[in-house]
Amino acid sequence: MVDVVKAPEGFEGPGFFATSLDKMVGMARKNSLWPLPFATSCCGIEFMATMGAHYDFARFGSERLSFSPRQADLLMVMGTISKKMGPVLRQVYEQMAEPRWVLSVGACASSGGIFDTYSVLQGIDRIIPVDVYVPGCPPRPEQILDGVLKIQELVQSESLRRRDSEEYKSLLESYGIK
Ligand code: SF4
Repeated sequence: MVDVVKAPEGFEGPGFFATSLDKMVGMARKNSLWPLPFATSCCGIEFMATMGAHYDFARFGSERLSFSPRQADLLMVMGTISKKMGPVLRQVYEQMAEPRWVLSVGACASSGGIFDTYSVLQGIDRIIPVDVYVPGCPPRPEQILDGVLKIQELVQSESLRRRDSEEYKSLLESYGIK
């Protein structure tokens, strides 16, 4: 059975339906996220399982992965990020157009995980802002899907003005991102 996305809250009557632009855009964005998988190690393998037929990531409108940052709006970071890799990850983030969201998958991406060493970045939120963290080493595909559902909730409820707000600008400035 195919589930149809529910219409947002609004007013309806015979032959018409009215709602706000925020809600329509939120619904469209939520159900058409294009993820960019930035997978560097074992958590990436869990993501491959998440894309397979059993877990079927496509159910959430995200079948189309983007390996170009310019056509992606969800950056999924999965795996150990070494300090040398940090600038590359940051560049990928900077090349993504707004609005963009970041999902940090697994202990390594979120905090360096078991690699408390001089060469490993102790969490990607040291270089880019993160929207949702998925715990685990490795997280199971169900957890990755749960993280994506949390991102979807954020996407749906995000105000159209948020990206132009002073608060958002100062968040990016705190990372030195223009
Ligand atoms: S969190 Fe665990 S499974 Fe994921 S990349 Fe790190 S070591 Fe591998």
